[in-house]
Amino acid sequence: MKKVPYDLIVIGSGPGGYSAAIRAGQYGLKTALVEKQARLGGTCLLVGCIPTKALLHTADVWQRIVHADQEGIHCENPRLDYPKVKARKDAIVNKHSNGVAMLLKRAKVERLAGYATLLGNGKVEVQSDSGVQTIEARNIIVATGSEARMLPGLEPDPDFILTNIEILNLAAVPKSLIIIGAGAVGVEFASIFHRFGTEVTVVEMLPRIVPVEDEDISKELDRVFRKRKIRVETGARAENIRKTGQGVSLTLTTREGKQEQLEAEKLLVAVGRKPNTENIGLDRTKVEMDRGFIRVNPYQQTAEPGLYAIGDVVAGTPQLAHVATMEGMVAVAHMAGKPAIPINKNRIPGCTYTEPGIGSVGLTEAQARAQGYQVKVGRFPFAGNSRATILGHHEGFVKVVSDERYGEILGVHIIGPEGFELVAEAVAAMEAEATVETMVHTIHAHPTLYEAVGEAFNAVYGLSINA
Ligand SMILES: Cc1cc2nc3c(=O)[nH]c(=O)nc-3n(C[C@H](O)[C@H](O)[C@H](O)COP(=O)(O)OP(=O)(O)OC[C@H]3O[C@@H](n4cnc5c(N)ncnc54)[C@H](O)[C@@H]3O)c2cc1C
Repeated sequence: MKKVPYDLIVIGSGPGGYSAAIRAGQYGLKTALVEKQARLGGTCLLVGCIPTKALLHTADVWQRIVHADQEGIHCENPRLDYPKVKARKDAIVNKHSNGVAMLLKRAKVERLAGYATLLGNGKVEVQSDSGVQTIEARNIIVATGSEARMLPGLEPDPDFILTNIEILNLAAVPKSLIIIGAGAVGVEFASIFHRFGTEVTVVEMLPRIVPVEDEDISKELDRVFRKRKIRVETGARAENIRKTGQGVSLTLTTREGKQEQLEAEKLLVAVGRKPNTENIGLDRTKVEMDRGFIRVNPYQQTAEPGLYAIGDVVAGTPQLAHVATMEGMVAVAHMAGKPAIPINKNRIPGCTYTEPGIGSVGLTEAQARAQGYQVKVGRFPFAGNSRATILGHHEGFVKVVSDERYGEILGVHIIGPEGFELVAEAVAAMEAEATVETMVHTIHAHPTLYEAVGEAFNAVYGLSINA
């Protein structure tokens, strides 16, 4: 076999790339990781999952202080120091980005700074301020991630027209914010800034918000958002978006066809993520593409020998950090000759960190019916859960979608306090191929939020106790 300097070159240090590189190091593969940005961690750590959740946490603390009198605690004139909120968020990001550097070093992964381009035949060109070099490996993983899609004719800017990057750098809480797009990113920012006191309007072209979720979840989030005075316009179009000097204005066409001029201090575009597959040399390989995404087999192999792809660039799996990480584990295990278990797309949890929070896994009720299952649903509201009462978060429910024939768990959909944490039990149950019956006999500690999950499994048989 031809001798090459590396067993593996990973391009990109997001959750997919850095985890794959560390695992490769653990398996004893000589590994290099190329990253074009100064800091490690990719979208997730630098401008995605982590900074948003840091802000959401502070928004939550702020709300608790503002409403503390409900719990008998009187806080006179609480004041939000947003620059400090932002500094805390930045410190969390920096700490973990440095942590990634330390973990890579420990796994003996060589870090190369620069922009990587595939040259074909296992070769990669790395361009940096200090020049251009070509490196070679037996295997390459493309983990170049994604960036925010923009609406045609719009360019992001730090002051008015924002993506997930600019909005995380605002110096102050905006008075008003229009968000275009009500997927996970859009509704999370709605939830953050609404709680900090911003007047928020969400405009979604599709008939419902969080459109990939079970319909009942969308309805509940829509209901809660409206109750909290977040304006939600679904089935609506935003056009003629322009900067006014003080802010942004646009023409809204509502679901009923009425037109209205909307103005706000800031506008966030959250209409999806474009895979970073342009200008990385894929045209010099045999890689097959699907509308800009890279096609892979169950072991993350592309059609080019020795070239794998993972994470947000991959066709057919959701753009989520934990998907990127697991795809990296599969790819590295496969190339290292270790047991590699392909991803089961039906067992990928989806979490949306709104308030109430959403956690879901598996088929929605509509998907299960469309696939011909004998669907039996169990549903339990958090209103019947004593821990939810203690926390003062009564909204939402747990919904179990099962097949009547064998009690197979097809999907679990949660909206409520810590819904994004509670879904873990359902994911483990499905991975272990537990049935509804198993979950009915699983003891749930009291008083906990996850008792609501146990109750929802009982509800499949009409046997929940507290509702
Ligand atoms: C606001 C927001 C919130 C999110 N919240 C969540 C969440 O709560 N949970 C969740 O699971 N997911 C969340 N996501 C999605 C998550 O961030 C992505 O799914 C995840 O980051 C994808 O990981 P990745 O490794 O594929 O790519 P990325 O994280 O995008 O990393 C790709 C890396 O490759 C580098 N790169 C690109 N091209 C080159 C090149 N040619 N040469 C060298 N380096 C290159 C980039 O600089 C980047 O560092 C969120 C996304 C956003 C925008």
